[in-house]
Amino acid sequence: KLHNTILELKGNIRVFCRVRPLLSEDGVGAEANVISFPTSMEAQGRSIDLAQNGQKHSFTFDKVFTPEASQEDVFVEISQLVQSALDGYKVCIFAYGQTGSGKTHTMMGNPESSENKGLIPRTLEQVFETRQSLQAQGWKYEMQVSMLEIYNETIRDLLSGFDASRPENGGKQYTIKHDANGHTHVSDLTVVDVQSSSKVSSLLRRAAQTRSVGKTQMNENSSRSHFVFTLRISGVNESTEQQVQGVLNLIDLAGSERLSKSGSTGDRLKETQAINKSLSSLSDVIFALAKKEEHVPFRNSKLTYLLQPCLGGDSKTLMFVNVSPDPSSTGESLCSLRFAARVN
Ligand code: ADP
Ligand code: MG
Repeated sequence: KLHNTILELKGNIRVFCRVRPLLSEDGVGAEANVISFPTSMEAQGRSIDLAQNGQKHSFTFDKVFTPEASQEDVFVEISQLVQSALDGYKVCIFAYGQTGSGKTHTMMGNPESSENKGLIPRTLEQVFETRQSLQAQGWKYEMQVSMLEIYNETIRDLLSGFDASRPENGGKQYTIKHDANGHTHVSDLTVVDVQSSSKVSSLLRRAAQTRSVGKTQMNENSSRSHFVFTLRISGVNESTEQQVQGVLNLIDLAGSERLSKSGSTGDRLKETQAINKSLSSLSDVIFALAKKEEHVPFRNSKLTYLLQPCLGGDSKTLMFVNVSPDPSSTGESLCSLRFAARVN
């Protein structure tokens, strides 16, 4: 009952938590369980407990995925949102968490593996299958894909020539404009018409190669940028002349780890500050939307400004908070869960 009230209050914002399995590379003492999942009737599947220094912290979300949850189990819970985009809604799905917590596994996974492919490849399959089946009812859909990353508050096009050796955009500005119809235009950004899931797969592969990676003490491949995958869907029904325009954004956020743990200096410090700024702006925006505040501070970061038309209003937002069970990550996990609890 209480849960229902909370859901009504926060409108179209949902928060799912996903805990990844322990990996062989996790630290010693990893067998000490810092994370547990309450099994009472009302907590089952929605609650997570985290123990730190003998103290237990409990959190409740719309859904909690234990380490056993498969990629398919997770997709089943978001496929309704994919359908919403086909029905003309604007949808954003975020993955938030420290580096190594499973964000990229959740969003992208291994697109080549039927078991391990993540939300983006599965979403595309669903979209193309549904398009096929709706054809019989007179629906004709056009789909466009763009992929970009935001690094140090600067947009990079991941589909323009795939040239990782020209990190400074070659003079392109990528200015963000929203028109009166709620459509977003990013100048110079490559937008590709897609007809089939296989075409998109090759785009995904090439974009992945282009993504900038930084090296921190945390993880050699730690990602210091936000990755934004956008699928624009326009549908026309040729017999009823009904029209829909939906947008689906899938966002793999930069690692949320705090500065000290990454040992940041110089350029790395600048990166960390840019990441902190945009993650806290995102939280401010979602918080303001959830509280139905009059002023929503979209303009405080590139990411929130880019996504402005797809956040709030009758759009739908889902935030994954990804958590590592490695005991050495307990402090970061607590920060992530608190962040998510704030927007929840
Ligand atoms: P992030 O993108 O948050 O830095 P990754 O998605 O790269 O984290 O995950 C870190 C490591 O954990 C990778 O080796 C990934 O394959 C593995 N991993 C993450 N989540 C899972 C999961 N649910 N099941 C199995 N392996 C996972
Ligand atoms: Mg990643």
